[in-house]
Amino acid sequence: MLFDTHVHLNVEQFDEDREVVIQRAKETGVEHMVIVGFDHETIPKAIELAETYEQFYAAVGWHPVDAIDFTEKELAWLEELAKHPKVVALGEMGLDYHWNKSPHDVQKEVFRKQIRLARKVGMPIIIHNREATEDIIAILQEENAKEVGGIMHCYNDSPAYVPTCLDMNFYISLGGPVTFKNAKLPKEVAKMVPLDRLLIETDCPFLAPHPNRGKRNEPAYVALVADQIASLRGITVAEVQRATEENAKRLFGIKDKNATG
Ligand SMILES: [Zn+2]
Ligand SMILES: [Zn+2]
Repeated sequence: MLFDTHVHLNVEQFDEDREVVIQRAKETGVEHMVIVGFDHETIPKAIELAETYEQFYAAVGWHPVDAIDFTEKELAWLEELAKHPKVVALGEMGLDYHWNKSPHDVQKEVFRKQIRLARKVGMPIIIHNREATEDIIAILQEENAKEVGGIMHCYNDSPAYVPTCLDMNFYISLGGPVTFKNAKLPKEVAKMVPLDRLLIETDCPFLAPHPNRGKRNEPAYVALVADQIASLRGITVAEVQRATEENAKRLFGIKDKNATG
């Protein structure tokens, strides 16, 4: 079965047909997903969905674009939510230098606070990175994020940084861009990440994979990401599915009732 490690079914783009989208995911073989909440509106909705569906989990964190709005109150809120049985990770958190709503130094401080919280509660973290790889790696090292590890979500930079990420106990998650014809870097990354450190995701409703590029993305399309990785690596789709599912369960500490070992 497929495990989509990063979805935003908790946003308004799915308000009209959320049930249909969830059904389509099931029919495509997507069993588990992690709903990622990143602000005041999407965090409660992520938890609500994880409570409603047995196979869904939630991650809670504060997006770097909105770092300017983060106070001690939000930090305490995240700490409280981390105790929820369906919350399996903190994030997404990180740095986003593409948008300038929040100054870089504010983003860095909010990122550091969330890493410290993750170490305090012993939870993996989900990293959002846009045009900020070197600063992110430096902060992860300084804050000893290796202790909790986590995911470099929708990894989209040079393969040169991958060994450092693996060294810090991070998994590399690939999404829609790996299927784009002109996307050289994610394709190289797809071939070089050890199979036991690879994850797949959609980041829906964003970044729909080819041939749906430009449309609203949805969890069912994670199958297209798995197909592309299988063909790049010259292995079967079943192998990609099995490995990425096992990796996600190991990282998030999910134990299936019917697990064999
Ligand atoms: Zn992100
Ligand atoms: Zn996201």
